[in-house]
Amino acid sequence: MAGTLYLCPTPIGNLGDITDRVLSTLNEVDLIAAEDTRNSMKLMNAFDIHVPMTSYHEFNKIDKAYTLIEKLREGKNIALISDAGTPGISDPGEVLVKMCQEEGIPVTSLPGPCACIVALTLSGMSTRRFCFEGFLPQEKNEKKDVLEELKNESRTIVMYEAPHRLKETLKELRNALGEDRKITICRELTKKFEEAIPLTLQGAIDYYEQKDPRGEYVLVLEGISIKDKKESIRKDWQEISLEDHMEIYTSQGIDKKEAMKMVAKDRGISKRDVYQALL
Ligand code: SAM
Repeated sequence: MAGTLYLCPTPIGNLGDITDRVLSTLNEVDLIAAEDTRNSMKLMNAFDIHVPMTSYHEFNKIDKAYTLIEKLREGKNIALISDAGTPGISDPGEVLVKMCQEEGIPVTSLPGPCACIVALTLSGMSTRRFCFEGFLPQEKNEKKDVLEELKNESRTIVMYEAPHRLKETLKELRNALGEDRKITICRELTKKFEEAIPLTLQGAIDYYEQKDPRGEYVLVLEGISIKDKKESIRKDWQEISLEDHMEIYTSQGIDKKEAMKMVAKDRGISKRDVYQALL
């Protein structure tokens, strides 16, 4: 019988946050796959865990997944831990989970610390609807597309950022989302100097003119209201001509009458206005 892959969350800064279930799982498995074995060794020492460890990180995530799957097939139980927090969230864990699923190997995920959720609940922003963006892409065009999408996002947005990129990212967010957009900057969560500072994007830029970012950061941004979202989408459409707007739909094989209806809806005007303008 195949073994099980256990996804085990580890503390993001406070050792007291490890759960009993994670501790007993880490003690009972045959092997622990860790993102950074040297870092995780400190955790193992703190909890007196003496189970063999192997590395599973971004640069060996495919090859190593095959090795781990082989061991799971032989009946070995494996725990996956990330550098800190929940494995699979902004780390290579998702690849191993997908491959296990495809191979019919049981996977179970234990609840525990996750920087995204700690920040969201501390942010003072709406928690009813939120999206997790992880780290913004590094590639310029990809980043531009994501920022363009975020401009009209109506859910609360949670993202991770490294301290050395924080200032630049705040400027990029300000340029895309506007200077008044609310942001809560969460820092050093669960640690001694934990902070959650509510600001605007411009306020955050000014704040970091005075001091250098240090530590670990999660940014929580307010989503746009549905009313403002509709208005913003309308403005975006108005940047192209009515003819080009019609062409977008007719080129997809949509008939002229239906296309006029869609154009009118996009631009927030009546069908009659579209018809007359086209004449
Ligand atoms: N898997 C982890 C989780 O569940 O939160 C996230 C891994 S990701 C590679 C690391 C990022 O998470 C950091 O760059 C930072 O943005 C965020 N992070 C982790 N621990 C944090 C903490 N104690 N305070 C603030 N942010 C933290």
